[in-house]
Amino acid sequence: MKVVKFGGSSLANAEQFKKVGAIIRADKRRRYVIPSAPGKRFNGDIKVTDLLYRMADQALAQEDFSETFAQIKDRYNEIIEGLELHDFSLDDQFEEIEKRMKEDPDADFAASRGEHLNGRIMAAYLGYAFVDPFEMIFFDEDGMLDDRRTMREVEKRLSQEEYAVIPGFYGCSHDGKVKTFSRGGSDITGSIVAGACHADVYENWTDVSGFMVADPRIIKNPARIETITYRELRELSYMGASVLHEEAIFPVRRQGIPINIKNTNRPEDEGTWIVESTAQKSGYVITGIAGRKDFCAVLIYKDMMNSEIGFGRKVLQAFEDNEISFEHMPSGIDTMTIVVHEDEFIEKEQKVVSAIHRLAKPDSIEIESDLALIAVVGRGMKSMRGTAGRIFSALAHAHVNVRMIDQGSSELNIIIGVENRDFETALQAIYDIFVLTQL
Ligand code: ASP
Repeated sequence: MKVVKFGGSSLANAEQFKKVGAIIRADKRRRYVIPSAPGKRFNGDIKVTDLLYRMADQALAQEDFSETFAQIKDRYNEIIEGLELHDFSLDDQFEEIEKRMKEDPDADFAASRGEHLNGRIMAAYLGYAFVDPFEMIFFDEDGMLDDRRTMREVEKRLSQEEYAVIPGFYGCSHDGKVKTFSRGGSDITGSIVAGACHADVYENWTDVSGFMVADPRIIKNPARIETITYRELRELSYMGASVLHEEAIFPVRRQGIPINIKNTNRPEDEGTWIVESTAQKSGYVITGIAGRKDFCAVLIYKDMMNSEIGFGRKVLQAFEDNEISFEHMPSGIDTMTIVVHEDEFIEKEQKVVSAIHRLAKPDSIEIESDLALIAVVGRGMKSMRGTAGRIFSALAHAHVNVRMIDQGSSELNIIIGVENRDFETALQAIYDIFVLTQL
């Protein structure tokens, strides 16, 4: 059995809906369908979810929202007409939403209607049952997913339906209100349904044929990743590669259910498989490269630091007290470096510095900014000699100065710090040495 989730661009208009319908009908095992709200139809278009948030803002400010609402209704009516669903209409739903926006406007409720309405159209179009996640996806008092209850309820409810459409992105809060996940959260709904129903595969359909080895905005036509493990994906997504919501892997991962990222516009492409573990070698020594700019390094010096017990704890205390999480912590015998996000750090910079002075009494502290971090990730690296050597010689050839090196304890990744201005050159050099030369 397969659970299939379709992203906003896969459902942006009737034409896209038809492609999705053909994909679902082509395989009877595609029993549970999770739609997003209609996304952008063309560059510069507005996602329905963004229109819904705009409408909620206007309603909350007691402004006239009728124009925004008209735009939203048009999007759905265009789809309904294009699919020639003559006996189907969302007018009752529209009326209810308008009433609610006037009487008790609420951003989560408004945003959730994007997938709710799309789900109703999809169910009518496919002839599948419509199941509202409000009845079976629950959040706890802290606003976190109530995992056990949700899994139990989803399994119970869906055992009554052979084929169903379940809108993504929302569920029910602890006090009985509609609550959404964070943006892009339909991926999580799909994962929950796949996990609860013990699917064989969770297919996540989008507008790209899977993950690329590097960011296509930086590297031209990068190679595709055929298979990636959950852990590799975590490493890459934390470094900024995003196709899938980062919380979407947990419900399926626990059960070893693979995720297959597929392209609605090119269903024949194999896409990328995300798996717990695999004997399959990646095509290259590395699986992927990702990175982000704008980090800061706080360098702390103190003679005899290595023999002072508790020094590291005191330094980290200064960051904790200021609610800053750190990314990396390479250290030397009398030095310690804490790497943090610039935007999280910059405002509290002087408070942190004085706290380190007070708590750890270092000899000196220096701050360097404009640092970019690059993660080179690959399960194949630990059994290969010379990977690090190749990375650094490639960077040297490209005249990139390496400012920091950190190999994760999993030996799954090597993190390299370079200056912001060298970021793109460094990515290209690493990509070329592993993918283009294919050694
Ligand atoms: N429609 C929501 C968003 O735009 C959720 C999703 O697409 O997954 O964030």
